[in-house]
Amino acid sequence: MQKIKAIRGMNDVLPQEALRWQYLEQISASLLARWGYQELRFPVLENTALFKRSIGEVTDIVEKEMYTFEDRNGDSLTLRPEGTACAVRAAEEHGLLYNQTHKLWYRGPMYRHERPQKGRYRQFHQLGVECFGYSGVDIELELIQFCQRLWQELSLNDHITLQINTLGAAKDRAEFGKALHAYLMPVKDQLDEDSKRRMDSNVLRILDSKDPSTQHLLQAAPVMGDFINPRDQAQFDELKASLYELGIAYIVNPALVRGLDYYNGLVFEFVTDKLGAQATVCAGGRYDQLAVKMGATATPAVGFAMGLERLLLLMQEVDVFPEALQRTADVYVAVVGGSSNRRVLALVEKWRDKLPNLRFLTHCGGGKYNSQMKKAFTAGARAAVIFDVDGTQEEVRVRLLEGIADTKTISVEKVVTWLLENLQ
Ligand code: ATP
Ligand code: MG
Repeated sequence: MQKIKAIRGMNDVLPQEALRWQYLEQISASLLARWGYQELRFPVLENTALFKRSIGEVTDIVEKEMYTFEDRNGDSLTLRPEGTACAVRAAEEHGLLYNQTHKLWYRGPMYRHERPQKGRYRQFHQLGVECFGYSGVDIELELIQFCQRLWQELSLNDHITLQINTLGAAKDRAEFGKALHAYLMPVKDQLDEDSKRRMDSNVLRILDSKDPSTQHLLQAAPVMGDFINPRDQAQFDELKASLYELGIAYIVNPALVRGLDYYNGLVFEFVTDKLGAQATVCAGGRYDQLAVKMGATATPAVGFAMGLERLLLLMQEVDVFPEALQRTADVYVAVVGGSSNRRVLALVEKWRDKLPNLRFLTHCGGGKYNSQMKKAFTAGARAAVIFDVDGTQEEVRVRLLEGIADTKTISVEKVVTWLLENLQ
C-alpha cells in the first residue's frame, strides 16, 4: 500500500528540534512579558474577504499564495497567510480599537502556497507584535529596540542588520506611483511579466521585483524619498536620530516597499546574509489606514512579524544553541531486575519535588543494565540512580555519567543530598 506522507512544504518537528523551538519560544515570550506586551490568539481560518480586503488584491499573497477553499456551507475560507489582518479583525470585533491603546503579540502557523526551499515553507510560523492606538515615533522606536534586544538575547545581533524606509502617506505614494509609471512607460516591454501586470495595478511593487533586468531598468527611476510629505519625513528623521542616540545601527533602503498594501510611514526589515535569498527574518511597519479599510474605527497601528523557521535556521548556522539543549534528562533512574517499580515511581516523585530544577527520566519496560545505561547517555543525563533488585531495597547505586565512571552505593535517603552535591 502507498504510504501517506506529509504535505509538501509542511514540516514535522521531531523531539530534538522541538527543544530548539521551545528555547526560542520561551526566550521571546518571556521578553515580551517583561516589556508588558499581551498575547492575542485568533483562529487559523478566517473569511477569505478579510485577507483580500486588507492585504490587497494585487499582492503575491492574495494573487497566488493563499490556501482558499469552500467549506461545507459554501463559504469561502482561507488559512491565514499572516497575522496582522486577523489581529485587527479580532481587536475590532471585541472593542479593543475604540479610544484605547494596546500592545499585543501572537504566535502560530501561517499558510502560503509558495515554492518550498530552505527558509521558505507552505506552513511556517510567525511571532508578531501589533500595537494599536499609537501614532508617534516612540512606539516605532520601542518595537525596533525590542527586536534588537531579542537578537541580543539569542546571540544573533552580529548577524542581523536593520533596514528602514518611509512610505509616506497614501497620496505621496500615489504621486510617486504616477512618476514611476511615467518613467517606466517607454520601457514597459522590457519588464518581467509580473511587473508588466503591475504597471496598471500596483506599480510600486515593481520596485520589489527580483528580476535582474527589471532591477537594471529601475536604477535611474524616481525615488520615493522625494515624494514624502513633510510630516512623515520629520517623523522618519526623528526616528533615525533616536536610533543613532540609542546606538542602534541601521541602513536606509529606499527600495524597501514591503509586499503588502497596507503600510504607510515607517517600514523596516531585519535581514541576515547567512540565509541566501531568504534573508529577511523580521519585517514590519506602520499601517494607520488598515482599520478604516476594514470598516473599523480609525486606529493608528504599527507592528512586525518574524519568521521563526528562519530564526532557527540562523541560530543553527551561527551555532548559538546552548549545549544543555541536547539533554532531555539530568538524572536517569534505572530499574534493573525487578518487576514492580511502584516504590521507585513514588521515590522519584519525591525527588522531583525536592529538586524541581532537575529533570528525572524513569526507566520503564525492564531490560539489562547496559541497555538502560545506553538510554541514559542518549538522553544526555548527567547522573544515574540505579535500583538493582526491585525497588524494595534500602540502598541504590549512583553513578555520574560524565568524566570517569564512578559508581557507588548509598542509602535511598541520601540520594537527594548526593544529587545536590554533584549536579547543582
Ligand atoms: P519574503 O520576501 O521572504 O517572501 P515576505 O515579505 O513575504 O517575505 P512577510 O509577509 O513580511 O514576508 O512575513 C514576515 C516574515 O515571515 C518574513 O520576513 C519571513 O521571515 C517569514 N516568512 C514569510 N513567508 C515565509 C515562508 N513561506 N516560509 C518561512 N518564513 C516565511
Ligand atoms: Mg513572500
